[in-house]
Amino acid sequence: YGICYLVATPIGNLEDMSFRAVRILAEADLIAAEDTRHTKKLLNHYDIGARLISYHQHNEIDRSNQLVEMLKEGQTIAIVSDAGTPGISDPGAIMARRCHEEGINITVIPGACAAIGALVVSGMSTDKFSFCGFLPSNKKSRKKALEEIGKLKLTVILYEAPHRLIKTLKELEDSLGDREITLVKELTKLHETIWKGSISRAIIHYEENLPKGEFVLLIEGSSQEEKGFWDTMTLEEHMEHYLEE
Ligand code: SAM
Repeated sequence: YGICYLVATPIGNLEDMSFRAVRILAEADLIAAEDTRHTKKLLNHYDIGARLISYHQHNEIDRSNQLVEMLKEGQTIAIVSDAGTPGISDPGAIMARRCHEEGINITVIPGACAAIGALVVSGMSTDKFSFCGFLPSNKKSRKKALEEIGKLKLTVILYEAPHRLIKTLKELEDSLGDREITLVKELTKLHETIWKGSISRAIIHYEENLPKGEFVLLIEGSSQEEKGFWDTMTLEEHMEHYLEE
């Protein structure tokens, strides 16, 4: 059998492509891409003239089955999304599952991921976090998701499109209260910005400066004490805390 590679691509800065990612894309028999035209530009930049096929959320199941057949014939396949790590709020996960079912080797060429990049620069607790991707657009599922997020005691990471940012911030304030939030915009790009403050201040800020570009939202966990526990305590305080309990 051939090998299936999930290849991370840059989230804004072309230099964030790894040497191995370039080599694997150049050597693959076929590259399955979320948007072939978009990926063509990336391949042109690295002078890679590979065969491209579409692999997106509307054909992911059928295409995965076709790709499995090609892998069984011994072909090497690379899967890329438009930006960042495939499978993270992007197609890729179904292919991983299919490969396991069929006993095909699947591996990752790690690289950029907006959620992890934003988390590490946010200054928020990184020892425990929950990635929730985009909130569902369906009203009922959205309400349920917000309720569940509200209970989490760890840093919550969300993706959001700029034109929905203010609406989402208002909903977050309504269901979670006025928590601390970090908004990481245009990571690795020219206008990279990190904004920190309360959700209510974020709403005011972005109503005055209309949101443009790509955003990651990081929200503090539900219990202040829990959130700060590992961050702020010294080892001695930690022991005292345990003894008190
Ligand atoms: N697979 C990608 C990854 O690994 O991060 C995520 C793809 S998802 C369809 C796109 C969302 O990721 C955007 O709406 C935004 O929330 C976030 N995103 C992607 N690139 C970003 C960047 N450069 N800065 C901030 N957020 C970004």
